[in-house]
Amino acid sequence: MLKTNVERIQKDIESLAQFSCVEGIGCTRFTYTKEFAQARDYIVSEMKAAGLQVREDAVGIIIGRMEGKNPDAPVVMTGSHFDTVKTGGRFDGPAGVIAGLETARVLHEEGFVPECPIEFVALPEEEGARFGSGLFGSRAMCGQLKPGEIENNKDWDGVTVAEAMKGYGLDPSKAAEAQRKPGEIGTFLELHIEQGPLLEKTKTDIGIVDAIVGLRVFDIHVYGRSDHAGNTPMNMRADTMLAAAKAVTAGTEKALEIGEGTVVTCGRLETVPGAFNIVAKETFFQIDCRSKSIENVDAVMAVITESLQKSAEENPGLSFTMEEKVSAMPVPMKAEIQAVMEEEAADAGISTVRMLSGAGHDAMIMGSLCPVAMVFVPSKDGRSHVPEEWTDYEDLQKGIEVIYRTVKRLAGEK
Ligand SMILES: [Zn+2]
Repeated sequence: MLKTNVERIQKDIESLAQFSCVEGIGCTRFTYTKEFAQARDYIVSEMKAAGLQVREDAVGIIIGRMEGKNPDAPVVMTGSHFDTVKTGGRFDGPAGVIAGLETARVLHEEGFVPECPIEFVALPEEEGARFGSGLFGSRAMCGQLKPGEIENNKDWDGVTVAEAMKGYGLDPSKAAEAQRKPGEIGTFLELHIEQGPLLEKTKTDIGIVDAIVGLRVFDIHVYGRSDHAGNTPMNMRADTMLAAAKAVTAGTEKALEIGEGTVVTCGRLETVPGAFNIVAKETFFQIDCRSKSIENVDAVMAVITESLQKSAEENPGLSFTMEEKVSAMPVPMKAEIQAVMEEEAADAGISTVRMLSGAGHDAMIMGSLCPVAMVFVPSKDGRSHVPEEWTDYEDLQKGIEVIYRTVKRLAGEK
């Protein structure tokens, strides 16, 4: 018998989904817009109804606090983001915010008084869908906002973050005040939808995240020579497209060989001049590689580099450049909290599996401030960032139940 209430969870999801600038197609809620303010008002009123002290911080993070017997003890924090991508779904972000709301309600009904304070949070601009640089709320809490990004980053209409903040009722000059002090937050827990097919395929209720993967993204340019597709023998070409194809294939084979959740993707490739009957004199492609350990990522990238070097040696006139565009270290989850989550899940009859998070989340940033842990709930057909994104409410409830039990245990222990 679960303590959390599936009808309330469904109502939260359906209510927040209404605050969208596009009707009828999933949910589109960009940070600091009218819809975002409507969602904020809903979250604030639900937090107040659950007896929380609610405030909005300098960048618009909604914080509902349940005071502890020891108000100065490190906070147990849980939550997620409430912005969405363009024509996204109803669950990516809100699921974790609602996990906080429902946890607060149940604790409130029980008259629970925690030892340490609990903060339930709802964060802005995780997706970066409006201003192009995501994880904004968690970065603000961790003191990782980049100089000038509030003044310079703009949306499609040329509105800067600072202007949008003003329109939303915030003072952008105070943004730095959102930063939390070291030691102030003891734990950050986040529930999120899986955004992949594993839980559904293995018929497991929830995932306990082991680590958020490390990743590197490279821009790769290969330079060669255009020649006639009919009259140039194969061994006399400087074919950039072929070199790229070999490199991608070699990297893919290496990722398969390494395992440990290592994935490598070439999702973008452009050739010049881009004609079917001309050898491509230039090929640009991007490689996105992720794994549990950064050494695995580096091993894949080394194989890709070797492959390109080999092509350059074998084909005079062929050269290449590689530029790292993104680099992020893996963020391990706190083993003790994973163990608590697994115990609590087992006690509630909820099945679990350890898994990697292949996507970044606010918890990834929060890991720089305090120990973190994440719960994944199943995504129907593994789909996300699309209107079809779906998690059955009973499945979501199971994940929320584990968040509720874990928060209660962590905040209840002296
Ligand atoms: Zn998300």
